Amino acid sequence: MTAEPQSAPPPQPAGDPLGTHRVLEPRGAMPQPAWKLDNDADRAYATEIVVDVELLNIDAASFRQMLEASGSPEGVGGKVLETVAERGKQHNPVTGSGGMLLGRVARVGALAEGRGVRPGDRIATLASLSLTPLSVSAVRSVRPTSAQLEVEGRAVIFGSAPFARMPDDFDDKVAVALFDVAGAAPQAARLVASGDRVLVLGAGGKSGLLCAAQARRSAGPAGRVVGAESHAPYADEARALGLFDAVCVADARDPLALTRALGDELGPGFDVVFSCVNVEGAEMAAVVCVRPRGKVYFFAMTTSFARAALGAEGIGKDADLYIGNGYAEGHADFSLALLRSEPKLRALFERRYG
Ligand code: NAP
Repeated sequence: MTAEPQSAPPPQPAGDPLGTHRVLEPRGAMPQPAWKLDNDADRAYATEIVVDVELLNIDAASFRQMLEASGSPEGVGGKVLETVAERGKQHNPVTGSGGMLLGRVARVGALAEGRGVRPGDRIATLASLSLTPLSVSAVRSVRPTSAQLEVEGRAVIFGSAPFARMPDDFDDKVAVALFDVAGAAPQAARLVASGDRVLVLGAGGKSGLLCAAQARRSAGPAGRVVGAESHAPYADEARALGLFDAVCVADARDPLALTRALGDELGPGFDVVFSCVNVEGAEMAAVVCVRPRGKVYFFAMTTSFARAALGAEGIGKDADLYIGNGYAEGHADFSLALLRSEPKLRALFERRYG
């Protein structure tokens, strides 16, 4: 008997490096604004990398919204399972934001081999969960302090989506927490000049602390770095770092109370204001506190373009308003280097997020 000739496996379709081949609804959308993605990781595309997911780091605004809506950390786990089942990605329908993930590479498509990872490598995504095809079969634990969930799941990384290998000298959870906000510090370096007076709203959180650390360097000894933070224990921790000239406890949703709390620090307004809060309604505090022709960097995902732009117009404040891009070239390495060179800040990150 002669054996049947073996047929070659069908060639893998390439898939679009931008990920449009995974968009289910609405047709023609890009993956981030799309309502629903195809999250079936068994469907192989040559430009993709498939990851067995261990940890989700949920965006701070999204985590806070899910915690308030569900009333408990377990409730957040339930919301994540619901969202992923409905949308094929962790794209919070209320805040519009995602987060990022840590996992182990399970498969590398033929056209992704040049990306420098192999099956078994551990990586963190640097593209938002709001555009990453994801399935989650179990939530093992939920940690509110770090907005991280230990899960079992699978994710797909598109050909154009950035990711980072896990550094050897950081705990995974700390590194992922840092990567979540990695765009903040390098952009602070671009915006703050020597001698600038800088205000950070949400100064005690992850991105607020990183912006402050970078602002301290960029502004130099002639500059001034001031923080505003609503959570008193975080304000104390921020003060103890020695990065700030002053930190006040204030609610950035109340611009008048904030200006009172700042007192003489406000002066003619700050040269640069960073908005790093995880709540809605802080746009006007930033706009009120910036000087004419100053800069406001809205890193917060809770920022409303309309409230910021119309609010500035409404009070005749001619300032440059920046949207905080989550991506800056080399941002993961930049942020790791910053944390390595700030031992007190690193210790705080390890205590809080590790
Ligand atoms: P985080 O660690 O939770 O820090 C936010 C800080 O703001 C917390 O200390 C929080 O205090 C404080 N805060 C809350 N409400 C406040 C108020 N009314 N006035 C003053 N301070 C207030 O958050 P994160 O991870 O740094 O993220 C900060 C923001 O950046 C979030 O909106 C997140 O969605 C966004 N983000 C943007 C990007 C991007 O690409 N642009 C990427 C990642 C994250 P509590 O402890 O009381 O909450």
